[in-house]
Amino acid sequence: MPEAQAMPLIDSHCHFDFDAFAVDREQVWQRCIAREIQALIIPGISIPQWRRLFALVNTQPGWFGAAGVHPWWVAELAVEPAQVQRALEERVTRERGGGNRCVAVGECGLDANISTPMEVQLAVFEAQLRAAQSLDLPLIVHCVRAHNEVIRLLKAVRPRKGGVIHAFSGSREIADEYWRLGFYLGAGGTITYPRAVKTRATFSSVPLESVLLESDAPDMPHAGRQGERNSPEYLPAVAETLAELRGIRVEEVIAQTGKNTRALFNV
Ligand code: ZN
Repeated sequence: MPEAQAMPLIDSHCHFDFDAFAVDREQVWQRCIAREIQALIIPGISIPQWRRLFALVNTQPGWFGAAGVHPWWVAELAVEPAQVQRALEERVTRERGGGNRCVAVGECGLDANISTPMEVQLAVFEAQLRAAQSLDLPLIVHCVRAHNEVIRLLKAVRPRKGGVIHAFSGSREIADEYWRLGFYLGAGGTITYPRAVKTRATFSSVPLESVLLESDAPDMPHAGRQGERNSPEYLPAVAETLAELRGIRVEEVIAQTGKNTRALFNV
């Protein structure tokens, strides 16, 4: 589809540092460039990972990093929840001082599908919200079956730079609530599945000004690619699906979501 190639795409959420890309990371990136994917936002997941992540991010001008503790890695934290804020502030200040591209705090959030107690997850999430405030950075939020708790915390803290609810899945009402709080909605592989009726309905009707495109690679394979490694090179299919759902041209989707991503992360 040559018309889709006219505008550069940004993958707002890609775990490109994961071992799943160890063997062919350079080749995958070359294929991304060939498909006009210009930049990747690579989230943090755990304190020991941050140093490696920024060393990787530094090797390509189109790669941008974030520092955060993902809820799945909260159980193996070697520090108290309250110390996460300081750890983040120190790491981000150091990376910025070295000229590295740290564009957000995250990924962080709440996940009701894991065994880590919610009160522990909440404490670690709140520490990261405070770090985002003091560092003046937006947030990358992971939320699984915990929208009420996330919204309650966002209302209490009111993150100044907002953020994104990545891989958003939920109703239009919840989407509107996040957007009012200054949070974009990340659209990814989920919308390629016809059975994702509610999420597809939400993304077909929310303002396009509130949407970012993401792969969440190597997770979240698209419909028809179940069981495969997901890859940022497939991002154009998310843009095309969103355009179909909204009955608009894919160029419009790419232009507006790209503008949204650049505005949020200042890239
Ligand atoms: Zn993620």
